[in-house]
Amino acid sequence: MYRQNDTEMRVLVLAPKGRDAALLSGTLVEAGVSVQVCTDTEMLLRMLEERASAALLTDEVLSATAVDKVGEWLLRQPPWSDMPFIVLTSGAVADAPRVARAHQLQALGNVTILERPVRPETVESATRVALRARMRQFEIRYRQAVLSRANADLEQFAFSASHDLREPLRTMAVYSELVNKRYGTVLDSQGKELLDVIRTAALRMQDLIDDLLVYVQAGENDGELPEAVDVAKPLGKAVSNLSALIGQNSAVVNYNGLPAVRMREVHLQQLFQNLIGNALKYRGEESPVVTISAELHDGQWVFAIHDNGIGIAPEYQKQIFGIFKRLHRTDEYAGTGMGLAICQRIVERYRGRIWVESEVGRGSTFFFAAPA
Ligand code: ADP
Repeated sequence: MYRQNDTEMRVLVLAPKGRDAALLSGTLVEAGVSVQVCTDTEMLLRMLEERASAALLTDEVLSATAVDKVGEWLLRQPPWSDMPFIVLTSGAVADAPRVARAHQLQALGNVTILERPVRPETVESATRVALRARMRQFEIRYRQAVLSRANADLEQFAFSASHDLREPLRTMAVYSELVNKRYGTVLDSQGKELLDVIRTAALRMQDLIDDLLVYVQAGENDGELPEAVDVAKPLGKAVSNLSALIGQNSAVVNYNGLPAVRMREVHLQQLFQNLIGNALKYRGEESPVVTISAELHDGQWVFAIHDNGIGIAPEYQKQIFGIFKRLHRTDEYAGTGMGLAICQRIVERYRGRIWVESEVGRGSTFFFAAPA
């Protein structure tokens, strides 16, 4: 649970008429709210930078310049912040331009307009609602900070773990190889087999660690969406990397007319490589036919990677996206169980989602949504 400090809790009051300022701050102070009276827009903006819970203004301060400056500040807020503003307007016809400017501000942020004459109770209640909303925002900011720290810790851990674990694994692999070379003639076939088990296990652990690192890195997020890239390029690279597998399986990969999406090329390539690679690996009796298409839904491109492979039973269709989750033994199908987990982490980093529709023996279609 997050605890606000005093600076964050205060309500900024900007009312050029001394009487209004006294009245407004008086009402709030009496209600137990901490108030900072500002003398002009500059001071208000300065105080906003130093954090506050809400701002209470009268429309006399809303000159065109002030609206520009406050509007700019509203748009510059970090994603967690939606600073509540309360603006008291006048009902008089002569004040119409200022009222229009209050509405202009309302289009840019969390602005409540109260038309005067207004009762003190109304000001107090609007302020309480604003404070409550702001507290939720602080809570979100706090949780986000905790999460991104945890993510950074996980990343750091994965880096050092993969580095530190790699060394002894290499030693195991190299030394079992050496034993085989030097003492191969002394060992009987069972001895050699046992040695091979050690070497295979070391190599497998190496693969698992490598994939865990890829997984952690796939989640790094700076919150910004990149410029749109044409999907054809990373998809082409993925297909080219899989060309040997495609040839061995006499497979066909179909796609054309795919859109541009706001994801990094390297992530798109990773997604397609994992999904098409799986479509080839989990093939059925017939030669694999993989079809990739995309449709626009609610402002997102939803890609579909369809195959004619072995399919997945309904009870496993969610589980398979879990870390190290696999449905087969390594001697049936090689793999670490990280491919789909990596895909999910990439897609979620762009606020998309990934899922599968499938029937055993009738192929699978993996879908993922990407920002248009
Ligand atoms: P891996 O392939 O290394 O096991 P993944 O995370 O890529 O790991 O896949 C998890 C599991 O999902 C696989 O073990 C497999 O059982 C199932 N799976 C993934 N893609 C397909 C597919 N196209 N057809 C059938 N099963 C699939």
